Amino acid sequence: MQLPIPTNVHSDESHKVEDIKKVVRRIKFESELDHNFGEHIAEKAYGQKLLGCIQCGTCSATCPLSHYMDYTPRKVIAMTREGFKEEVLNSLTIWLCASCYSCTVECPRQIHITEIMYALKREAIQHGYYPKRLTIPVLAREFYKRVLKDGRNTESWVLVSLYLHTNPFAMIKEAILGIKLFLRGRLTIGKERIKRRDQLHAILGNTKGGSQI
Ligand code: SF4
Ligand code: SF4
Repeated sequence: MQLPIPTNVHSDESHKVEDIKKVVRRIKFESELDHNFGEHIAEKAYGQKLLGCIQCGTCSATCPLSHYMDYTPRKVIAMTREGFKEEVLNSLTIWLCASCYSCTVECPRQIHITEIMYALKREAIQHGYYPKRLTIPVLAREFYKRVLKDGRNTESWVLVSLYLHTNPFAMIKEAILGIKLFLRGRLTIGKERIKRRDQLHAILGNTKGGSQI
């Protein structure tokens, strides 16, 4: 929240106005939290018991990527169950998680943290919370859309979609490599499709959230 800037300020105090402009509230009020968020994510993560977490930090200690995360896995669990929806879904942590399952194996309360990370990723994609040009969620989304449509992943089409949505100039740089791979038969250009796509759509349509992306 930006604080209001007073209008009757003398010019020699202008630097103070600039300082005031930078003051942003860092805490959240109870009324701003989404109190259903923890339960919702727990359900999406196949009934994980978030309230069973004792905040011991073993997951953060064992995670090989926690040094690069904006919130450690322990913090993600705490923030999720307390309802910090925007913070968790906008965090880089869920996209840096490499699904190595170390945290899940070591957790003394048998909480499947990796499943929670997956549930948070799905939630972020479905509701468009993730940074729009961050490669990892865009790749996940474009891959899913391609498989949903054709029943198969045509790599060249997924790559083109990925570059168009993240960094189109990088596509020009990688074009030579793409041509070389195509000439060696390692990259197809024609779309690969299964025959009975209607069956796939029927299956995905019957799964919870299966066709929402
Ligand atoms: S290891 Fe398990 S109990 Fe400990 S902080 Fe992580 S999720 Fe909670
Ligand atoms: S599964 Fe993800 S959060 Fe858990 S230890 Fe591995 S990288 Fe870290």
